[in-house]
Amino acid sequence: MPTPDELLHLDDLLTDEERGWRDRAREFARTRILPTIDDDFEAKHFRTGLVAELGAAGFLGMHLEGYGAAGAGAVSYGLACIEFEAVDSGWRTFLSVQGSLAMTAISLFGSEEQKQRWLPAMAAGGAVGCFALTEAASGSDPAGMTTTAVRDGDGWVLSGHKRWIGLASIADIAVVWARTDEGVRGFLVETGVPGFTATPIDTKLSMRASVQCDVVLEGVRVPADAVLPGSTGLGSAFSCLNKARFGIAWGVMGAARTCLEAAVGRSLVRESFGRPIGQTQLVQQKLAEMFVSYERGMLLALHLGRLEERHALDPVQLSVAKLDNVRQAISVASLARGILAGDGVTSEFPVMRHLANLESVRTYEGTDEIHTLVIGRALTGLSAF
Ligand SMILES: Cc1cc2nc3c(=O)[nH]c(=O)nc-3n(C[C@H](O)[C@H](O)[C@H](O)COP(=O)(O)OP(=O)(O)OC[C@H]3O[C@@H](n4cnc5c(N)ncnc54)[C@H](O)[C@@H]3O)c2cc1C
Repeated sequence: MPTPDELLHLDDLLTDEERGWRDRAREFARTRILPTIDDDFEAKHFRTGLVAELGAAGFLGMHLEGYGAAGAGAVSYGLACIEFEAVDSGWRTFLSVQGSLAMTAISLFGSEEQKQRWLPAMAAGGAVGCFALTEAASGSDPAGMTTTAVRDGDGWVLSGHKRWIGLASIADIAVVWARTDEGVRGFLVETGVPGFTATPIDTKLSMRASVQCDVVLEGVRVPADAVLPGSTGLGSAFSCLNKARFGIAWGVMGAARTCLEAAVGRSLVRESFGRPIGQTQLVQQKLAEMFVSYERGMLLALHLGRLEERHALDPVQLSVAKLDNVRQAISVASLARGILAGDGVTSEFPVMRHLANLESVRTYEGTDEIHTLVIGRALTGLSAF
């Protein structure tokens, strides 16, 4: 039986280098993460020991140039995201937070000294970064943030609360977005400083093999050079979010692929009314719809990747892909769950875990509604936010 990618003739659309990154990511994810992912999801455990291995293999900030980063192309990065998310969205989320959010913020807006200090260590997996934008009362609308950074002598004092901050409790460095008298700016806060506390959110039923935290900044004193000098307003934070959306648009197709393969496999062996359920028209219709969703999402992701390589990727395109690829992946996972029926709600199959994870992916980096409004604004020129 051909795999979904064979039916799509995916390899014909990729270069040797891209296939190489894809194959190395697949090998890593299948050998180092897959064997323990169900236990980790159950135990709410993030395997920090893998971070250095991911760095040594070149996956951290892999799309960035210089400072120890691999300098891979956009499509190679997208393909790696697929392979990690095919195992668990939590690990693709780790790549996104470390590479697309924290490292990208430093790479785009940091001083030469900040880049030298942090990027090589983060690329090697010797330091973990987090990206603290969301607050309890301002998620979709970060302009409502209340965290402040006030000049004090030759430094700054940061005060406020952040919520849902990925990796914060294990991070060495936090990119914190705060309101100043010159507008919102990004700050590099070493997480060991007095007044910085990160507490994992323990009640998650999604993304349980990764970590998100409540963060408190209580009069955190940082030196003058902790500010990211190139950060000038919320637009700077948004440009990092766009980099992460790119990886999401690809990555979720990995979750979809795993669910589709689980459903096809099951449909061949599960019998009902004296024949495999895969020989019924209604099950084939579901499988066909799942494959169409997968193929469409892959082609859209690839289109984005080729645009990004030409530096021609528009944020509206990212909204289209983040909105549609995530909802297609959820639809595929949900149809797969139905085909697996009773067993589909158990951890004997990865489908319910993917479905639960994808609900988080649907929420972060812009909800469906926010991306819908971005697309509506692009079509009409009218903001309906
Ligand atoms: C697992 C996970 C990881 C995360 N990681 C990070 C991280 O590392 N760093 C970080 O800073 N944040 C992170 N987040 C936060 C995430 O970005 C926010 O949860 C998201 O932006 C939504 O904000 P909210 O939950 O406050 O929902 P709200 O903004 O309160 O939205 C509630 C509902 O209202 C809808 N809504 C809001 N405004 C409008 C409107 N104008 N029109 C129509 N509908 C609207 C939304 O679409 C949503 O359905 C993470 C979240 C999760 C779940």
